[in-house]
Amino acid sequence: MAKREDQIQEHSRPMTSSCSPMVDWSDQTRDQDFERLASQEWDLLVVGGGITGCGIALDAASRGIKVALLEQYDFSSGTSSRSSKLIHGGLRYLKQGQLWTTLESSREKGLLRKLAPHLVRDLPFLFPISGGWKQRTIVGLGLWVYDLMARRPRGLLHQHLSTQETEKMIPGLSEKYDGSLLYFDAETDDARLTVHVAKRAVMEGALLLNYAKVEKFLLNGDSAPGSAISGAMVRDTISGKEYTLRAKLAINATGVWCDETRERAHVSEDKLVQASKGAHILIPYERLPISGAAALGKPGSNRLLFLIPWEGRTLIGTTDDFYDGPLNNPQADEIETASLLEQVNSALPQIKLTKADVVGSFAGLRPLAKSEHQDSSKVSREERIHEDETGLITILGGKLTTYRQMAENVVNLVAKKLGRSFPRCRTKSISLFASPVSKDPIQSSFGSEAMRVQRIADECPRWRQPMVPGQSPIYAAAIYALRYERAVKLSDLLLRRTRLGVLDWKGTQVSALQIANTLAEEARWNPEREVAGLLEEQP
Ligand SMILES: Cc1cc2nc3c(=O)[nH]c(=O)nc-3n(C[C@H](O)[C@H](O)[C@H](O)COP(=O)(O)OP(=O)(O)OC[C@H]3O[C@@H](n4cnc5c(N)ncnc54)[C@H](O)[C@@H]3O)c2cc1C
Repeated sequence: MAKREDQIQEHSRPMTSSCSPMVDWSDQTRDQDFERLASQEWDLLVVGGGITGCGIALDAASRGIKVALLEQYDFSSGTSSRSSKLIHGGLRYLKQGQLWTTLESSREKGLLRKLAPHLVRDLPFLFPISGGWKQRTIVGLGLWVYDLMARRPRGLLHQHLSTQETEKMIPGLSEKYDGSLLYFDAETDDARLTVHVAKRAVMEGALLLNYAKVEKFLLNGDSAPGSAISGAMVRDTISGKEYTLRAKLAINATGVWCDETRERAHVSEDKLVQASKGAHILIPYERLPISGAAALGKPGSNRLLFLIPWEGRTLIGTTDDFYDGPLNNPQADEIETASLLEQVNSALPQIKLTKADVVGSFAGLRPLAKSEHQDSSKVSREERIHEDETGLITILGGKLTTYRQMAENVVNLVAKKLGRSFPRCRTKSISLFASPVSKDPIQSSFGSEAMRVQRIADECPRWRQPMVPGQSPIYAAAIYALRYERAVKLSDLLLRRTRLGVLDWKGTQVSALQIANTLAEEARWNPEREVAGLLEEQP
């Protein structure tokens, strides 16, 4: 395995971080940002601060387009902190014949490994075989194509593993499996990836505001047919103040909210999106100590159950069912949790997981382009760009993995519409705070900014302490997020800038008031109110 790790590092040599000095992006400059928002005309307004919107803001700003992004809650608080954390070539899409999606995803995966190697890390993946030689041949052929598309070097091509080799990597796997195929994908922290992209966009000159809800769009013809968007009314959901901003163009990157957002521009055409819910559970790594991820297929089904080693836990997911409930803060329910446990226990009968093993859970909503399919797992994951008669451009579908390419596509369209000449897309070479792969949790989460976190830790011995006993994030990480990552609420710090609340919800609840009190001077907040907000927003 050691040799393979060397090859992984060689294969994806990190891009050196060519960042200009980090800007102050704290709560203290928020009011100024709202004033700036209202005081000028923007080339582009982006609504939605998930990975799609942040990717667009970075691409646009780096081409010299004057761009403002508004997010109604916190950055990544929608689907972009609730994924399976895979940066993947999309093996399943290959099975569905979506060659282009697989090719694009493979290419983007390779690129992200270079732009943020500390955060997008290679992950050995096993596909256990239960369908005899026929399944082994079909999956093997698929993996040849997969390897070719990813242009993998020899040492990282897929391999056939025997039953014993497979059992070593996934202890307790059912005897119905006859060995496995080993291939490579990558994993990340989705919320941290989103905030990396957001920070980089700010450094390129974009204005990004969280807790800024677009209430309605302004049309230049008083909403008569054919009127075009000329701006928006925005509410600062922290202070309650309202602002009006002017913009030449607007992009709707609000994922599963995109039809609601179109209604804010008086668009009443057919709906574009249908949500599909995916639930995950987390169990202590020691209960299921896998040394690589596993994709367990169900015969006759498109669905795969993933077992993924992630941040000291084993992440199990996901479900995939059409959903029409409330969009804000979906949670994994009892039925979904029981179903995931049952699927794992059927594949690994000796492990005997129960509800008591579950230390965390979360759920997200896939923003799928509306289709005729009855089975959500069959709906294409490809992106869709749609333009309404008001000029509002909606982008939906796609994946975390392909956010950069999606942004490039839509900003190319924006550049054309603005009718001026802008440079070509630069994001293939804009480092996302790149630093080498490391076992140090601060470097893994903050990349080249780890030094700044370290400097904060040196300011005071308290900042070197873990916030939750037994978990790695220290106070200095939270202080960094308050100063440089526009964390506003305690829940931003504990659910997204660090993942404490996701990885250890019980421990986080116990420590929450102490954390809120310790950070009160820096954050200037009311600790009790912050804790109440966190408990309400639980993962
Ligand atoms: C269960 C699950 C597993 C997944 N696993 C993977 C995976 O492993 N790998 C992968 O590549 N992809 C994965 N995906 C897909 C990926 O997570 C999504 O494609 C991606 O996160 C969508 O990002 P987005 O920015 O479009 O949407 P979101 O992250 O939802 O962002 C939209 C934002 O718009 C904001 N908004 C809405 N209305 C307004 C308004 N009026 N004003 C201001 N802001 C507003 C919302 O608050 C929200 O934050 C998964 C998805 C799910 C659900």
